[in-house]
Amino acid sequence: MGTNFRLPGPTPLPPPVLAAMRREMIPHRGPVFRTMFREVLRLAREIHRTDGDVLIWPGTGSAGWEAAIVNLLSPGDPVLAAVCGAFGDRFARVGVAFGLDVRRLDVPWGEAVTPSALARSLIEHPDVKAVFLTHNETSTGVTNPLPELAVTVRDHGAVIVVDAVSSAGALPLETAGWGLDFVFSGSQKAWMCPPGLMIAAVGARAWEAHARSRFPRFFWDLTAAKESAEQGMTPTTPPLTLLYAYHAALQMIAAEGLDAVWRRHAALGKLTRDGVVAAGLRLFADPAVASDTVTAFLPPEGVTAGALLEVLRRDHGVEAQGGQGHLADRLVRFGHMGWAHEPELRDALGALDRAVAVLGRGRRASAETG
Ligand code: PLP
Repeated sequence: MGTNFRLPGPTPLPPPVLAAMRREMIPHRGPVFRTMFREVLRLAREIHRTDGDVLIWPGTGSAGWEAAIVNLLSPGDPVLAAVCGAFGDRFARVGVAFGLDVRRLDVPWGEAVTPSALARSLIEHPDVKAVFLTHNETSTGVTNPLPELAVTVRDHGAVIVVDAVSSAGALPLETAGWGLDFVFSGSQKAWMCPPGLMIAAVGARAWEAHARSRFPRFFWDLTAAKESAEQGMTPTTPPLTLLYAYHAALQMIAAEGLDAVWRRHAALGKLTRDGVVAAGLRLFADPAVASDTVTAFLPPEGVTAGALLEVLRRDHGVEAQGGQGHLADRLVRFGHMGWAHEPELRDALGALDRAVAVLGRGRRASAETG
């Protein structure tokens, strides 16, 4: 029984990415590296739909929160964090850790942040310099209406910082078209790579904010990364193996076509939601804002997420994930981003259906004997 890897990150690695990682080291200041890195940045710009900068660091998604703060803001700056799950909450808490004056817009987990709620918050907090948005809240399986939220912030004028960790490369994301200023992600999600790269798209308004920012910084400094990128290099030793992987993954996305990649994820999202409902389970997120990269659902009545995950793993080889924070044992999450296709999703959903039937029988039997 092979493993059906349905974690919402890290995600399965496609064969070309695995093959790319077998490559030997090359001089990281030499012409072969420079050619490859320039090509990586060009493809990444294309896929982020921007002519602005895309910069890459060794790091995970969390580095994006920190890089945004130290590059675009100054100690004590007021910011607004829109929170609808565990990752939005962490973004807000990183802001607090850096001494920002964080105002929060909290919406119930499982719901999306609405443009009207954001507009009201901005009226209440007119002085905020930046708004922190989570495009796809991985902990609850919700995709926020990013284009509409961005319009709302644009009207106000604050810098728009977007955590696109579980959306970039899978969900429609128009960095330039939607006026997003700083968009970051991590390699281990829809980018189909191992964990270890943080990728950020930086627009013109972000550069203006960067020029005003007074946080100390060195490793995450945007100016240093841009100056190196212009030479086809990185300020530090680049994580070569991860960049080989990312290069291969970007080429795969370009070959499939970004629109086709977005359509594939939309189809997988619907397939997964339909399969969960067909298994008799309840989706956690409001279907109107349900994510096409991760689906969160409730285990059967009287069964913990841990018990369902254990049956899926032990009897069916399906590796899924539980919830986060206060939802840890109440939710099960299936990831369907990156190297994800219909056959393995159908297998995982078939396994879910059988696991639910077995757990349901177990419950009935214990009720009869008890
Ligand atoms: N933001 C979102 C939306 C995420 O899903 C994650 C991780 O799952 C992170 C941030 C943090 O990323 P990392 O664990 O790579 O640091």
